Amino acid sequence: DLHLNEKYTFDNFIQGEGNKLAAGAALAVADSPGTFYNPLFIFGGVGLGKTHLMQAIGHQMLEERPNAKVVYIQSETFVNDFINSIKNKTQEQFREKYRTADLLLVDDIQFFAKKEGIQEEFFHTFETLYNNQKQIVMTSDRLPTEIPDLSERLVSRFAWGLQVEITPPDLETRIAILRKKAESEGLEVDESTLDYIASQVDTNIRELEGALVKVQAQSTIQKQDINIGLARSALADLKLVQKSRGLQISKIQEVVANYFQTSVAEMKGKKRVRNIVIPRQVAMYLSRELTDASLPKIGQEFGGKDHTTVMHACDKIARQMKTDTEIKSAVSDLRQMLER
Ligand code: ADP
Ligand code: MG
Repeated sequence: DLHLNEKYTFDNFIQGEGNKLAAGAALAVADSPGTFYNPLFIFGGVGLGKTHLMQAIGHQMLEERPNAKVVYIQSETFVNDFINSIKNKTQEQFREKYRTADLLLVDDIQFFAKKEGIQEEFFHTFETLYNNQKQIVMTSDRLPTEIPDLSERLVSRFAWGLQVEITPPDLETRIAILRKKAESEGLEVDESTLDYIASQVDTNIRELEGALVKVQAQSTIQKQDINIGLARSALADLKLVQKSRGLQISKIQEVVANYFQTSVAEMKGKKRVRNIVIPRQVAMYLSRELTDASLPKIGQEFGGKDHTTVMHACDKIARQMKTDTEIKSAVSDLRQMLER
């Protein structure tokens, strides 16, 4: 009873900022199970590709060794199976099922929280597999140390291999995921529409896919090709669409120029000195955040720059805000001034 989703393969997994470490680790595990990273522990927020990556390891092992025993399980299923095995006195079969796996995939292991009996049982499963150099992969929405009442010995064993986080994808990765998804569905979606959809959903890949489905449905209903106008109306009720409050890019440029004591003309120009590049990139970033203008449109408003320049600027500022407190407070000051 193997329940791998056939779509969850490495081929269908787009690598980018946020998931490339996890993807690299998963590939390494698929290449040489039971050796380098055992167990592999993938953690991160909902809808970011943990289940997909975990199952990709299973697919790859089966491709190379069709007779391998791959066991994929939601941790709740493990819990229920265990309880039933006690009730039905089938504990032998239960143990046999898990302890003879070549690859054991346990999804969302945070549900083992506070379940002492389950943890005890899983501990023995883990020991058996580990000692036989069988690969164990787990996912969770958090680190083992943050799972309530997870036994010390499991916490420590879960750290024997590699713990790797998946974080939300940046814009570029979201666009790439949508593009791939549209292709596989046979949908024709132009770049600015992909860009628009990707900019509306910025946390969760499942929701990103949901947005594309909405647009696709709207296109069927209206018997119209997918374009940016259609996407806008299809996604109009998304919670995240709180942009387009009529804020103009020219206004953003003016306020940012003033704040950094430079001029709008310099920001639209080509000079690459720091005291112009920073305000230019901040203004691009804010245009992206606070209006619903597409990347090409923003580029155009900044003296006809390419959309990739704008994308680079947005990602760069987003990254810098994490480490550079000056940039961070400038952006938050400006945001407040503009949203007033
Ligand atoms: P999680 O288990 O972290 O909640 P899932 O693995 O269920 O997330 O992923 C949610 C959806 O997003 C799935 O349909 C999955 O195929 C898709 N997805 C996630 N990450 C990627 C990616 N990097 N490339 C392509 N599709 C992805
Ligand atoms: Mg999952």
